[in-house]
Amino acid sequence: MRIGVVGGGFAGLMAAYRMLELGYEVELFEEHGRVGYPPHCTGVVSQETVDGIGRPAKEALEASYEGLIITLDKVKCKLRTREGIAKLDRVKLEEIMLREVSARGVVRLGSKVRRVTPQGSLELAGERKHSYDIVILAEGIQGRLRAQIDLIHNPTTSLGVNIEIPGSSGEKGYFKVGFTPAMNGYTWEVPVSNRLVVGALSVNPGEAVRAAKKLAGDRRRLRVYGGRVIHGPPLPRARNGRVVVIGDAAGVNKPITGGGLWPNTMLVNQWAGYIARGLNVLEAFDRAYSTIYSRLYKQYKLARAFYEAPASERVKLIRFLGSLLEKGLCDRLNGRIGYDSHEELLGIILRDPRLLVKTASLILKNISIIKKIIL
Ligand SMILES: Cc1cc2nc3c(=O)[nH]c(=O)nc-3n(C[C@H](O)[C@H](O)[C@H](O)COP(=O)(O)OP(=O)(O)OC[C@H]3O[C@@H](n4cnc5c(N)ncnc54)[C@H](O)[C@@H]3O)c2cc1C
Repeated sequence: MRIGVVGGGFAGLMAAYRMLELGYEVELFEEHGRVGYPPHCTGVVSQETVDGIGRPAKEALEASYEGLIITLDKVKCKLRTREGIAKLDRVKLEEIMLREVSARGVVRLGSKVRRVTPQGSLELAGERKHSYDIVILAEGIQGRLRAQIDLIHNPTTSLGVNIEIPGSSGEKGYFKVGFTPAMNGYTWEVPVSNRLVVGALSVNPGEAVRAAKKLAGDRRRLRVYGGRVIHGPPLPRARNGRVVVIGDAAGVNKPITGGGLWPNTMLVNQWAGYIARGLNVLEAFDRAYSTIYSRLYKQYKLARAFYEAPASERVKLIRFLGSLLEKGLCDRLNGRIGYDSHEELLGIILRDPRLLVKTASLILKNISIIKKIIL
């Protein structure tokens, strides 16, 4: 079985890595001369993601946290997550993964793929056509090749900006995330040894830049980087013929945060698991994709109410969630919610009779918001 992979970002490298482990012949094309550049990602992931990636993530580990401090409309919640959270050096991660993939497969850096067909062929300028049994398209957010095979995708996106400054946040073992009603996005402060990564994302790019700069203040900037972040929905159908689409190109991202490493790790690992159990490679992909799609779609309903709703509704949603935290949701979530399991939020409220009683009037007042999140 010959597999062609387009894109040497996280998703393409992760898929290539697993397919090589299964014993397939893999050829990966990356248009840039190196991987990981330009840097864009903050690199905050769950421990489940670190374990799911394996050794390369452990080698690229920069910091670990017990949880996060969420501020929602002035309500502060110090939340220990069900499992730990990690900060990875994203450039290093991709460099290590590249090394692993190059050791067993063929990697062609500086090679831009110009055309793809559902039959599994790839075209590069001045070369004969390359034919594969399976093509994995992991070309990132722009999705130019994906559009050539009629898989059209228009997710909601925002701009994310990271600014690295010297210093620390003062909260050992936790990083901070802040939501305010005025902002169509959120901010973060992630401590890493003697520096702090502060940043913001917003559907309104100017707002993201302003919020990140405000957090950095007049401190010396060690590094500034960022890019577009995807908030769903994921692509409903991620395969045409022999070509499968993964990563940002398919919107396989956690819709609230835009995090792409967890869902792609889950997708690729589950795909490889089904193949190892004897399923045909394409059927195995369809099955694994439908599992991650349904989880991400549930998360998308909450993200949609936040990123796509009119400002007045977003304000109500943030105030509602803030009040829930204040009335006991923060305690209830402590140690019980996974960093990636945003879709579990409402279930946790609804399954807890004491919390339900405490928040009943709040829930009744906000029933229209809840319906939007559920339906
Ligand atoms: C500011 C910011 C912060 C983020 N923070 C986090 C975070 O904390 N945690 C998290 O999990 N996620 C985070 N993300 C999201 C995460 O970075 C992405 O989901 C992930 O990097 C996407 O990987 P990818 O491989 O799908 O796409 P990309 O990384 O964009 O890789 C696509 C690759 O394909 C190559 N390519 C494209 N077209 C072609 C072609 N025609 N031929 C050959 N090569 C081609 C590109 O050069 C590129 O290298 C963040 C993103 C941003 C922007």
